[in-house]
Amino acid sequence: MSTKGKQRPSPYKLRVGLIGNPVAHSFSPRLQQPAFDALGISARYELWPTQDEQLLERVSSLCGKLYLGANVTIPHKQAVLPLLDKIDPLAESIGAVNTIVHQDDYLHGYNTDAPGLLHALHEHGLGEVDKDGNISLHGYTAVLLGAGGAARGAAFGLASAGVKRLIILNRHLERAQRLAADVQQTYDGPVFSLSDPNFLLSHSSSIIINATSVGMHEDASPLPAEVLARFDADTFVYDMIYNPIQTHLLCQARAMGLNAANGLSMLLHQGALAFTLWTGKPAPLAVMRSALMR
Ligand code: NAP
Repeated sequence: MSTKGKQRPSPYKLRVGLIGNPVAHSFSPRLQQPAFDALGISARYELWPTQDEQLLERVSSLCGKLYLGANVTIPHKQAVLPLLDKIDPLAESIGAVNTIVHQDDYLHGYNTDAPGLLHALHEHGLGEVDKDGNISLHGYTAVLLGAGGAARGAAFGLASAGVKRLIILNRHLERAQRLAADVQQTYDGPVFSLSDPNFLLSHSSSIIINATSVGMHEDASPLPAEVLARFDADTFVYDMIYNPIQTHLLCQARAMGLNAANGLSMLLHQGALAFTLWTGKPAPLAVMRSALMR
């Protein structure tokens, strides 16, 4: 008997996936599928390319009983908010959701980018974990490059970790000012916004975080080398970009002897936090890390 035209039944009981456009080059399936497999959870992580006009239907489909939830990426991280039943307070402040959890017939929105960044910085030796498991970055000055979606998550994450001061540098000053004003609503420390890197001053114990897309498609840095050279030797440079793994900014920093890391660790931790939200289980970090490095 011919099986032509018939689809084989999926061996997986549950479904979860990535909503965005485009999604084809995402690292998330590479990260999540081995985690489900390692824990013996019969779930398949899929790619769900979704145009703007398909978003409502796609999100509604997550109410089906086989769906654990989804990750959300560009360009839908803001647009999904009004489509969900409940939004976590951190995601509400940031104004972006990257993880949807389907639980008890409700869709809950979370942002794991912000805590993912803090876990990544801690993994690179920065800050401390308090008795409640929260990461504290007391005493650090955070210099945030960018004021887009990723930078918004970073700004609220850094503020919640209690950085001493936050400096937001963005090409379009108004966007940096808007983000500064939003963060200032819940953060007591000083927040500065600027658009000209030449006005950046060095502070001891600085963390410079690139949350712009500069360096992703071109061999360019978001920070002139002479400005980076002003920073103290204890400065840590984190580039959220992970493809390419070595950006121009990271080359500059390492050539100056500064500690530096790319965005793979943030990708890992935001994914691990999402996994735990979907499954209620600790994520198999070692499995996910080695899958990502392959
Ligand atoms: P986005 O919302 O489009 O924001 C882009 C940011 O880059 C804005 O601040 C923009 O400045 C700035 N920018 C773009 N081109 C520029 C240029 N030529 N010169 C100066 N500034 C420029 O993007 P996003 O979602 O925030 O993502 C930003 C980066 O973070 C991407 O590279 C993304 O891959 C990375 N990311 C990594 C992770 C991870 O897990 N590692 C997670 C999320 C994002 P204006 O506001 O002035 O336009």
